[in-house]
Amino acid sequence: MPREDSTYTSSPPKPDQDPNRRATCTTCGLTVKRPSDLPRHMLLHAKNKEDFMFQCPFPECGHKTLQKSNLETHIRIHTNARPLQCPVIFSDGLRCNFTSSDPSSLHRHKKRKHEDGE
Ligand SMILES: [Zn+2]
Ligand SMILES: [Zn+2]
Ligand SMILES: [Zn+2]
Repeated sequence: MPREDSTYTSSPPKPDQDPNRRATCTTCGLTVKRPSDLPRHMLLHAKNKEDFMFQCPFPECGHKTLQKSNLETHIRIHTNARPLQCPVIFSDGLRCNFTSSDPSSLHRHKKRKHEDGE
């Protein structure tokens, strides 16, 4: 009565391991090495690709990319190389030394320290 199920021994085909199986973009003819790469490539042709893009949170920049990791790299341009410095020059000619990578905290700083509030 107990018998090995013979269907269990035959392994299913693995299309990803077939080196001849490549995927070709029907729009531009580009061949990608792995079929799993094609959907990401197709986003480049999508009419509504803006919907898939990640936008730089710095409003004056406008940079957009399809890959989140690219955006994280891009944001370092703002946060490391170009920290925002308070533009206020005091009456003795010295510049306020407050810096921040966050535009909104610089804005708060200016309001608090340099503007006469109520
Ligand atoms: Zn293409
Ligand atoms: Zn940016
Ligand atoms: Zn300041």
